[in-house]
Amino acid sequence: QAKSLGRCRSIVFELAMAADQREYYLLERDLDEAVERNQLSLVFQPKVDLISRKVVGLEALVRWNHPTRGQNSPSAFIPIAEHSDQIIRIDRWVMRSAIAELARLRSQGLARLPIAINLSIADILSPNLVAYLTELLDEYKVPASALEIEVTESCFMRQLDETQSVLRALNETGISTALDDFGTGFSSLSYLRQLPLQCLKIDQSFTRSMLQDANAEKLTQAIVAMGIALRMTIVAEGVETREQMNWLLAHGCHIGQGYYFSPPVPAQDVQQVIERLEIRLSA
Ligand code: C2E
Ligand code: MG
Ligand code: MG
Ligand code: MG
Repeated sequence: QAKSLGRCRSIVFELAMAADQREYYLLERDLDEAVERNQLSLVFQPKVDLISRKVVGLEALVRWNHPTRGQNSPSAFIPIAEHSDQIIRIDRWVMRSAIAELARLRSQGLARLPIAINLSIADILSPNLVAYLTELLDEYKVPASALEIEVTESCFMRQLDETQSVLRALNETGISTALDDFGTGFSSLSYLRQLPLQCLKIDQSFTRSMLQDANAEKLTQAIVAMGIALRMTIVAEGVETREQMNWLLAHGCHIGQGYYFSPPVPAQDVQQVIERLEIRLSA
């Protein structure tokens, strides 16, 4: 499986070849115990409807608090986990924790918000993924419509058929699917034609450059138009300024996510962050 990870594999390769091979193996070894030792946690980032200026969802993002190194970034350890197949155990923990949190938020009556979880290709292809998720939803009494799965395009080129049938099975249970980091990787438009996806997330590199670079602006405009034509919900990632938000609103993008609204925050802060954010956006 590791052989077919495409761009993910080259990141791993670069990491492994970088300054310190030993470093890589130490991280890989420690990562093995991260779940058992309770070192993982989740943070949640709001997604904001640009027209109503309301929070319409949350994305769960994993954090690893290493006992001596402090907090490790998922962009550093997820590729290592993917390379060694530890990713499946980590992401099963993420799925359980995110759904438990979703249930907690719903029971407080405050946030009937869907939660999105990021999965890697190994998770998508792992046996019983759909059963695992439906059992969790059952256990925590959360409707499938409150769950969204984000996948990136860069990792599934070689297993397009399998990916297609898993995403379809997820959709059949009521779980929705999103294509993350759109515009990076290989960006084959045929994925959009062949995969059952309800949401398109424009990569933050477009959001970052669209007001500086005329080509990036035209491309972002074209991606939004294409997504709308395909009846997908369009989310812009990495919104950091009011100008970016206004541009996205003017060009028909539905939802924004980024530091301008809120960074990812721990579960206990979610309610307060949503309240304050909605007040700030309505002022
Ligand atoms: P992603 O799913 O595209 O998540 C967006 C990343 O951008 C997050 O980084 C988030 O903290 C960051 N971000 C949000 N708003 C802004 C902004 O305005 N500016 C900038 N510069 N960055 C912003 P994070 O949390 O470090 O996660 C990195 C990637 O790791 C994620 O990218 C996702 O692909 C992966 N990942 C995170 N959690 C999980 C997980 O539980 N399982 C798996 N398999 N992958 C995960
Ligand atoms: Mg994501
Ligand atoms: Mg992304
Ligand atoms: Mg990403």
